[in-house]
Amino acid sequence: MKTKHVQQILPPPPSHMVGDGFRVHNFFPHGYDIQPHRMSPFYLLDYNAKIDFCPRETPRGVGVHPHRGFETVTIVYSGKVAHHDSRGNRGVVGPGDIQWMTAGAGVLHKEYHEAEYSRKGGPFHVVQLWVNLPASYKMSEPGYQPITNEMIPKYILPEEGGTADVIAGTFKGVQGIARTFTPIEMYNLRLKGKTALAFTLPRDYNTGILVVEGNLRVNGNEMAPADNFILFRNDGEKITLETEESTTALVLSGQPIKEPIVAYGPFLMNTKEEIMDAFHDLNSGKFGKLEDE
Ligand code: MN
Repeated sequence: MKTKHVQQILPPPPSHMVGDGFRVHNFFPHGYDIQPHRMSPFYLLDYNAKIDFCPRETPRGVGVHPHRGFETVTIVYSGKVAHHDSRGNRGVVGPGDIQWMTAGAGVLHKEYHEAEYSRKGGPFHVVQLWVNLPASYKMSEPGYQPITNEMIPKYILPEEGGTADVIAGTFKGVQGIARTFTPIEMYNLRLKGKTALAFTLPRDYNTGILVVEGNLRVNGNEMAPADNFILFRNDGEKITLETEESTTALVLSGQPIKEPIVAYGPFLMNTKEEIMDAFHDLNSGKFGKLEDE
């Protein structure tokens, strides 16, 4: 097995607010000069590094907005996110939980701090990914996978080294829980104290690791501190990670979707015409109805 080498270790780019509830570092597609296909099928990575929100009666968040042509994946480390969509789905995503929403042909949704968390305030630490869909699935029926931490299969590392939450794909024989449209590997590594591990991913899969907490030594040399994103070359299979302290890291790896990308606002399609269609369908009510409260 050849090593999958580090291409670059990216520190968090300057943050911006999404609505008034999410202070995110956008690693791609805007934060760095990374081509839109470089991390395909992952199109966007918004990282709300851990911050403390002060208590507030009216929850902060993002009001009603549409999506079409992809999936949004919300991964919560601290705090709680509440959401509603125009298909009647609603729920709360707490620490360790995942919300995997297939926008497909189109939904309206809103994303807020959960009411009780908002009243108390405290640490908030969240990732949102946009996972692209291939042309053949862009207009599929919208769907929704609420995945609680208890539901996520876990690989137990030897010698009390921690666990790997297998969100999607397969990690050392443990099969992940999320249903995906294209081959994706996604794990939350929760390493305890001094730990080392090695694993393999297909050579041609675009691969990155977000260090959520702690730090990682990668392939025996490069050091990646918390809140950094490790971008790998597509030159081998094997990744070795070591840490001296408790560390949480999100592994993202997937088979690239080799199709044209035309992105505009909340839509991710293959052609300009499809973007126009999305606006037309949105304006004619095809995304359903959802009220701001
Ligand atoms: Mn959204």
